[in-house]
Amino acid sequence: MDPVVGIDIGGTAIKAGRLGPQGEPQPAAARPTLIENGAADLCDRLADWARELGARAPLGIGVPGVFAPGTRTLVESPNLPALEGCDLRLEVAQRLGWAPECIAIDNDANVAALGEARLGAGRNAGDLAMVTLGTGVGGGFVFGGQIFRGGLGQGAEVGHLFVHDRERCDEPCGCGRWGCLESFASATAAMRRARRAGLTDDLSALCAAAREAPGPARELLVAIGEDLGRGLAQVLVLLDPPTFVIGGGFGAALDTLLPGIRAGIAERDFAQRHPQIVAATLGADAGWIGAACLAQSEGVRAN
Ligand SMILES: [Zn+2]
Repeated sequence: MDPVVGIDIGGTAIKAGRLGPQGEPQPAAARPTLIENGAADLCDRLADWARELGARAPLGIGVPGVFAPGTRTLVESPNLPALEGCDLRLEVAQRLGWAPECIAIDNDANVAALGEARLGAGRNAGDLAMVTLGTGVGGGFVFGGQIFRGGLGQGAEVGHLFVHDRERCDEPCGCGRWGCLESFASATAAMRRARRAGLTDDLSALCAAAREAPGPARELLVAIGEDLGRGLAQVLVLLDPPTFVIGGGFGAALDTLLPGIRAGIAERDFAQRHPQIVAATLGADAGWIGAACLAQSEGVRAN
């Protein structure tokens, strides 16, 4: 099997690498996104880097944001607004002299879920839902070995599940609505809740304190876990995934969140399920690995 290149575009850094002949990940050193130089410059650099990595079609790309229904044009990308209105797949394909179908593109959370499903925490797990706890809360579902996108390609936005009435909210979600899971369980929300409770907002120190002894730090992480569990329970009720993979920077605190998550699920799941809840294992490589996996399954080879 030819090596396949995957690229994961983040707000500040781009990660890329190749899956070797046996599917072994060969990561390259990350590069800065430099979105301030504009979309065209970014597309130039993506195409150059793909060539440097020896990319032959198909190539996979992950990018944060939402695509217009039925298209590969980004309509909303809060971290990379300069890409809104850009058909990144077409732009990069043109620079490489390829047909657009030679590039498989999807949002970053979806490709990360596919990476974990194929080569990470979910490799023997079957169907799974991945939830990423970072600046926001991202979601990606892999069912039957493939990304589940919903009818118009805008599904799996777990971060905007409703978990609490407005009276329980400190501030609105980034989407402008009140009560979304993201405003209770993202890394950003955890830091805000810690500050309000008079605790350290250094998440690793907070988690260390929670592990060490009962007290306010542990209580806060249980409370955040419960809110996350209320969200996961809704995913269970609708889609019944047997496994949840928890990733993102704050996902490293899964051990301290887990008692709360179980309690939140027990509170809301009528069927009292006990899904597997495991930590992601690919870390920051999940996105480019998943993008390469997507290219293997959906990208078209060049003639
Ligand atoms: Zn929201």
